[in-house]
Amino acid sequence: MIKEIINLPLRFSRFLHILKEKEYIALFHSLTIETVFLSARALELVSEFKTGKNISYIIMQKELDFSEKKSFFSLVERLIEFKMLVPLSCNEGKELNGYQKNYLRNPVINMAYLVLTDACNLRCRYCFVRQDIDTKYNFSFMSSGVVRQSLNFFAKWTSESVSKNKTVILYGGEPLLNKEAFCLAIKHMHILKKKKLLPEDLEISVITNGTLIDRNIASFMKDYNVLVGISVDGMPKVNDEYRCFPGGNGSFKKTRTGCETLKSVGVEFSLSITITPSSVKNLLKHVQWLIEKFEPKGIGLNLLMDSAERIISSSEYAEIATKEMIRCFEFLRENGIHENRMMRKIDSFVDKKIYPYDCGGCGRQVVFLPSGEVGMCQAYILSKKFFSIPDSKFSPYTNNDFIGWAKRSPLTMPQCLDCIVLGICGGGCPARADFRHGSILALDDIFCIHAKETLKWMINDLYRYESEEG
Ligand code: SF4
Ligand code: SF4
Repeated sequence: MIKEIINLPLRFSRFLHILKEKEYIALFHSLTIETVFLSARALELVSEFKTGKNISYIIMQKELDFSEKKSFFSLVERLIEFKMLVPLSCNEGKELNGYQKNYLRNPVINMAYLVLTDACNLRCRYCFVRQDIDTKYNFSFMSSGVVRQSLNFFAKWTSESVSKNKTVILYGGEPLLNKEAFCLAIKHMHILKKKKLLPEDLEISVITNGTLIDRNIASFMKDYNVLVGISVDGMPKVNDEYRCFPGGNGSFKKTRTGCETLKSVGVEFSLSITITPSSVKNLLKHVQWLIEKFEPKGIGLNLLMDSAERIISSSEYAEIATKEMIRCFEFLRENGIHENRMMRKIDSFVDKKIYPYDCGGCGRQVVFLPSGEVGMCQAYILSKKFFSIPDSKFSPYTNNDFIGWAKRSPLTMPQCLDCIVLGICGGGCPARADFRHGSILALDDIFCIHAKETLKWMINDLYRYESEEG
């Protein structure tokens, strides 16, 4: 092949990035997701292509001997195959359009959040819902009519979607403050399954603080195979600093009791851990402790969430949290425990597959409020921004807000096109971008720190692996 292109001017792709670390030098292509490790001398040679040169010119200029020529040719062939080197005249805008066409979607609904109430029995200090409520706010509880109507809408919309793995998440506030709606929703989903209006393998889950779980509700969850996610943040003192009841008492003890009740009836659960300013520096210690005491099925690690009125995350926090999340992930991986957030990126990196969205709100999910209003993101429960009242003609597939959200991906965001993480970032949380910078189309800069650091770690990991393999 080299013979055919020896005089063809080649240049670096605009999606090529060079990483110079202490142990290695790597080239990484942000759309083909390919990595090439190379020596300093090899980098010196390929850097000649930066502004457009042909192979024969470089051989002559650098006076390459036979063996250097051979390895240079084979490197150039690899770089062309991975699209890191492209012809000088290559139109990479067209290339990008191809990726957008292949990976961006119109809404394809496969998940629903049913907000059974916006009330909560806790007053967590970081909660993006609770902190914004003024004292005159009237909490609402989803009625049985709205439960049925919302699930019927979901069944209708999801039947029009080709996507697999459908899920309904029962959510709040604290969803178990509305146990009647909780039980009714689950029973109604089973009726819809029997009528084949919802798929037999529909997953039903609940995210709860666990403090209201008694034996009855735990047995009910067991009978109906409900997947349970429990919010808890660390050892008792650290958990209770942020997760407390209105009077200020910590919630840990009651959450623990709830989890023991679940275990006593054979319900497994996952833990959803928000990384607080108190746990961030010792996150691994807290995660290890929680695993030992709770024996969860899985772990979810969450960055703090801002709200329209209150920005609580910072770059410094995101940097420390990311480093700690990586340490935790290494520990969880060694112990065979699943952590979804990191795993999604690793899968994309390993499979060299574009990961266009990190947010279900971008075209995959619907959120039903206690009032019956429907939108795409649970972070707007109070302001109801992007929510509308659905009538029989409403469809997330034709609604402009849903369509607009489904277009939000790094692949369409001009700020992202020259970023090394472009293909596997997913763009973080549009709501956080909106709260921090006034638009869902802005960058979620807190997530950017996480995404970039995670990619660096994955390339390090790959280097270690390849070095060991020889
Ligand atoms: S915008 Fe953020 S909070 Fe809302 S669904 Fe997406 S990731 Fe979740
Ligand atoms: S969201 Fe941030 S990290 Fe992700 S591609 Fe855009 S700039 Fe890069």
